[in-house]
Amino acid sequence: MGCLLYLAHTADGNLSRPALEGLTAAREIAGLTGLSLAVGLVGTGVEAAAASLAGARVEQFLAVEGESYATGRYHSDAAAAEALCRQAQAELVVAAGSSRWSRIVAGVAYRLGGVADTHVCGWRLDSGELAVTRWYYRQRMKGVMARSRRPWLILVDPGVCPPQELLSGVCPVTRVAVSAPPSRTRVEGIKEPPAAQQTIRPDADLLFVAGAGWTKKQRDGRHHLEEAERLILGFLELSKASLGGSKSLVDLSGEGQKVLSFMSHLNQVGQTGSSPRHPKGLAACCHGEEPHVVGWRFINERRAINLDPNCGWAQGKADVLYVADAFEVMAKVNELLAQE
Ligand SMILES: Cc1cc2nc3c(=O)[nH]c(=O)nc-3n(C[C@H](O)[C@H](O)[C@H](O)COP(=O)(O)OP(=O)(O)OC[C@H]3O[C@@H](n4cnc5c(N)ncnc54)[C@H](O)[C@@H]3O)c2cc1C
Repeated sequence: MGCLLYLAHTADGNLSRPALEGLTAAREIAGLTGLSLAVGLVGTGVEAAAASLAGARVEQFLAVEGESYATGRYHSDAAAAEALCRQAQAELVVAAGSSRWSRIVAGVAYRLGGVADTHVCGWRLDSGELAVTRWYYRQRMKGVMARSRRPWLILVDPGVCPPQELLSGVCPVTRVAVSAPPSRTRVEGIKEPPAAQQTIRPDADLLFVAGAGWTKKQRDGRHHLEEAERLILGFLELSKASLGGSKSLVDLSGEGQKVLSFMSHLNQVGQTGSSPRHPKGLAACCHGEEPHVVGWRFINERRAINLDPNCGWAQGKADVLYVADAFEVMAKVNELLAQE
């Protein structure tokens, strides 16, 4: 029987939510194709990670362990993945579409003489052969692909599957040696902003999108940027929502205008931004034009606050449109949230 290898990074034995979602996908694909399921772990604490998954009908665990594999670098991640794929002699290789796997998947496929597909969000058998689906052009077109070349490396988009439940058990881990030239890069440490400044929260229940209206002159003919900052940050703090922005808002800083200090291009949602996945979304002071709303493809329930009853959201793009002043609405919402 051929083998499907599922690849995951682990830090001190912990597995991220996207990694567990990817394992759900790998199990489904192994079930469809009749391949045996192997898990390849890269990082530190591989024994603990394997023990937490051993009950999930995994037939073998392979691992590349060590501090030098704990941090993402092209050189070490690609060498580890290549060694694991060769050891497993995998026909299919599945991993979560994380930044680390996305960076190396094409290079590893090339080294193995295989092929790679990214952003995969569905799988099925077509005439007995595996076919995968992905979106193109910001979720406007769906493609279905089947490949005859092997190994076929498949990265699954986060948020597509429920995470695999941890089912502990006992399963031996086979260590795999990596032969790679010494790295020229040394990781000295990782700098990241304090948690309170992290406005992008992929696991949040709510996406709050701020539009350029927050920076425009209001009814009194004046700008209210400081108030806008206070209201938005207050809401994020109280609701733990993830912050998105419209292109017009995030572009303003590039044009030298005074803008919301915590908003960057990373927050941009839309055709040329991101398509985050959250159960609910609330847009305020954002017009709801198509190039923006196309990034809301994976937001299940949509609401918007706009002064203009003819804005884009009113054209069938939101479930609820509040025709109101967002400054007033959000001040009241924050007041109510603070009382809870
Ligand atoms: C090729 C291409 C790609 C693009 N990609 C993207 C993309 O990825 N993401 C994106 O966002 N856009 C994108 N755009 C731009 C998009 O078409 C819009 O121009 C942009 O989304 C408008 O941003 P906005 O709604 O924040 O600003 P505006 O259009 O300026 O709208 C501001 C809104 O705020 C409202 N408002 C003002 N004050 C208040 C208040 N007090 N209370 C309530 N409402 C208020 C106004 O009524 C208005 O509707 C793209 C465009 C093109 C051509």
